[in-house]
Amino acid sequence: MQSVYYDLHIHSALSPCANDDMTPNDIVGMALLNGLDLIAVTDHNSLLNAEPVMKAAKAAQARQGKELIVLPGIEVSTAEEVHVLCLFRDLIAAQFFETELFPFYSTLSNRVSIFGNQILFDEEDRVTGEMERMLIAPT
Ligand SMILES: [Zn+2]
Repeated sequence: MQSVYYDLHIHSALSPCANDDMTPNDIVGMALLNGLDLIAVTDHNSLLNAEPVMKAAKAAQARQGKELIVLPGIEVSTAEEVHVLCLFRDLIAAQFFETELFPFYSTLSNRVSIFGNQILFDEEDRVTGEMERMLIAPT
């Protein structure tokens, strides 16, 4: 039997509850340091930092030779305030799901002073923007 070490509930700095240092390369680096084989990026009501983490894992694999599988995911906050982890086999399936979910997302704006930052990155940890929509709000 093969052992697989995993964490399927990781928030990047896009989630307002996460630390701002949860960048794609910090997530990948800490996962590898902790001996994980598989992770899922599951930000609240958004998929946008999943692809940069997936690309950072591929770059780390090219440098270090250690494979880290990254599943794209979304932690959907329902109208009943239930948080549902949605995991996908690939980015295309996740993007299809988010397209279907998008009309149900809240249109409220984030209040950084109350809820925290919602930072978007590229795969080299460069800040590419800040999400305006309040991701912690229920769908
Ligand atoms: Zn969570």
